[in-house]
Amino acid sequence: MTSRKAMVIDDEPLMAEFIADVLDEVGFSCEVACDARQALQTLFKLRPELLVLDLVMPGMDGIEVIRHIADAGLRDVQLVLVSGHDVAVLRSAEQVARERSLRVVGVLQKPLRLSQLVEKFENVELASAQPADQISDEQLAAQLPEVIARQQIEVHYQPQVALDSGEVVGVEALARWQHPTYGFVPPARFIPFAEQHGLVKALTDTVLRRTFDDLNQWRREGYRFSASVNISGAYVDDLGLPERLEKQLWEVGLQPSDVRMELTETAVMEDLANSMDILTRLRLRGFALSIDDFGTGYSTFIQLHRIPFTEIKIDRSFVHLINEENDARAIVESTIMLADRLGMVSVAEGIEHSTQFSAMRTLGCERAQGYHIARPMAARDISPWIQQWSSA
Ligand code: C2E
Ligand code: MG
Ligand code: MG
Repeated sequence: MTSRKAMVIDDEPLMAEFIADVLDEVGFSCEVACDARQALQTLFKLRPELLVLDLVMPGMDGIEVIRHIADAGLRDVQLVLVSGHDVAVLRSAEQVARERSLRVVGVLQKPLRLSQLVEKFENVELASAQPADQISDEQLAAQLPEVIARQQIEVHYQPQVALDSGEVVGVEALARWQHPTYGFVPPARFIPFAEQHGLVKALTDTVLRRTFDDLNQWRREGYRFSASVNISGAYVDDLGLPERLEKQLWEVGLQPSDVRMELTETAVMEDLANSMDILTRLRLRGFALSIDDFGTGYSTFIQLHRIPFTEIKIDRSFVHLINEENDARAIVESTIMLADRLGMVSVAEGIEHSTQFSAMRTLGCERAQGYHIARPMAARDISPWIQQWSSA
């Protein structure tokens, strides 16, 4: 078996070698470069799964490297960013990468601890155990419209639990595309594409319809909880949406309060006047509105004030660092307090460890979601999972 490819770019040779040794230990074959400009050639040829990138380097810095990677369309590389700078700088760099649709799987502050590196790299192993997302833009353009039109996008559900009682309070619907050749294509790959090519309405309609059916099935099995659905900005431009969705729900015996619409801050900003109209009427009809990935978008406070959100989902980048960084903890604490003061439900997303679970509970966050509780799963696996969770 060929080993998995990684690359380290750090101008300090000793540091680069140290990181490379750890990567070797956890099963990567690693290329090391101390000059970013020269490293780019190797990087484009090698196309590693993992790139550990130092931000501060003479000549070309890490942010410039990120830009070149994005421009070259190397979307499957997973980034771990390292720097001796404070965490705020690391976080901005992470944001830069995310905005260019790159995947950041870790940010590490120097001096690096061995245990920290091992933990990060082992997690990368988990993430990339998913089949590759090698599909090109051309292939997406050729195949996605038909896949959506034929309703071949599937929906998986990730449970959400109350932090105090452990009770299952809901599930989040997440779109899944199982490609015959490429395997699992992540939504981060096909959703933005669907948004840019006018496919998002058909896609969201499919996800909503599936979710309503599955909610009904769970009802028949005796479970009553709500489902959250992710809504793109482009979906919220049809003034008839609130009535249409309500009617669809009534037809299958459900109510608007059974559904939570998750929107990101950025999605709402696209056409504020129109989306405010529609979102307010969704609320009037009883739909719950959730602000997703809170803390990573724009104009957060203004939107909280203008749009009648009922729930805040604290972005996982803050949740992950809750026990490691004071800044992240401060942001989480104030978000929970803000939610509380505004009468909104607080939800922590991306809980991966029991320590994060207990920290969020101590801080008074109401609900939690994440791999530590359960990974997203097929609809039929939900009730066996609930039985197992409730008896644990
Ligand atoms: P999101 O709404 O923030 O969904 C949560 C994402 O975090 C999901 O990724 C989920 O699998 C992942 N996740 C859950 N727990 C953990 C954890 O403990 N650690 C980590 N690292 N990740 C965790 P997924 O399914 O890949 O979806 C990514 C994004 O794609 C979603 O982010 C959402 O913005 C978008 N998306 C998914 N389905 C749809 C859809 O039907 N419509 C729209 N518009 N967007 C969707
Ligand atoms: Mg979401
Ligand atoms: Mg989220």
